[in-house]
Amino acid sequence: MSKLSTTNHRSDVVGLKYVYPVISRRLGGLSIGINFNTNNACNWRCIYCQVPNLTIGAAPTMDFDLLAQELRLFLADVLQGDFYERFQVDVDKRTIKDIAIAGNGEPTSLKDFAKAVDLIGTIATELGVFPGSKYVLITNGSLVHQAKVQAGLKLLKSYGGEVWFKLDSATKEGKQLINNSGQSCKASLENLMLCTSLCPTKLQTCLLGIDKKGWPDQERLAYLELLGHLKAMGCTVGQVLLYTIARPSQQPEALRLSPLSLGQMNEYAAQIRLLGYDVSVSP
Ligand code: SF4
Repeated sequence: MSKLSTTNHRSDVVGLKYVYPVISRRLGGLSIGINFNTNNACNWRCIYCQVPNLTIGAAPTMDFDLLAQELRLFLADVLQGDFYERFQVDVDKRTIKDIAIAGNGEPTSLKDFAKAVDLIGTIATELGVFPGSKYVLITNGSLVHQAKVQAGLKLLKSYGGEVWFKLDSATKEGKQLINNSGQSCKASLENLMLCTSLCPTKLQTCLLGIDKKGWPDQERLAYLELLGHLKAMGCTVGQVLLYTIARPSQQPEALRLSPLSLGQMNEYAAQIRLLGYDVSVSP
C-alpha cells in the first residue's frame, strides 16, 4: 500500500466515492475530506483550480446512505482498524485533525446541503471524533445568500464547526480574472457578513503571480481596504489564511501562474496584521 502523502489524496486512494484521506503537513495529522462534487462541478472556475476536468455546475444528488456507510466504514478503519499502518502514516501524524467538507467543486451547491452537514456531524459525534477534531467547510462563499446554505451553516456551528470562506480579490476585475466569477463585490461582502454571523469564519486567500507579475498594488490595496472595512463594521473574521499555489493548476491558464515567495507572503501577512487580524501563511 502506498504511503499517504499530501499529493495523493483523492477518493481513489481508499476507493470511496465521497470520503478521502489527506495527511496534512500543515495540520500535522489526518484530514478527512468529504467530496460532495463527485461530478467535478463548480459555479466558479478559478484559474489555479486543481480539479481535473472541472465543469461549470452544481453538486449532483447525494446518496445519503452511501455517504453514511462510507464515513462510518472509514472512521472505523482509522479508529479501530489498521488504516495508519496500511498507508504507512508517520506515527506522530496518527490523529484525526479535522473532517473537511472540501470537494471537487463548490459543496454548498448541493441541494440537500444542510442534511449532509447534519449527517456528517451526527456520525462524527456518535463515533467520538467530534468535538475533539475540527469540522470545517471550505467554500467559495458565493451561495451563502441561499436559505439552504444558511441552514447548513447554523448546523455546522452547532457541531463546533467553522467556515473557510474564499476571498482572492476585492475587485470586480480581480474576481473575474482569478475566479471567473461575475458576483459583485457587494454581494460577496454581504455573503461574508452573513456567513460570519451564522458560523465562525476564516478567510482563505490564494495569492499568486500571473504572467510573472506578483500581487498587483491595486489588488493589494483593495483587499486591505476591504479588510479594514470589515473590521470597522464589526465583522468577526477568525483568521486570514494566506496560501499560494502548491500544486499545478488544471486550468488552461496553468503555465501563466507562479507561486509567491514565502518572503512576499510574509510581507503581505504583516500588512494584514497591522489591521488587527490574525494571519497564517502556508507556503
Ligand atoms: S471555488 Fe474551488 S473548486 Fe471551484 S473553481 Fe475555485 S478552486 Fe476550483
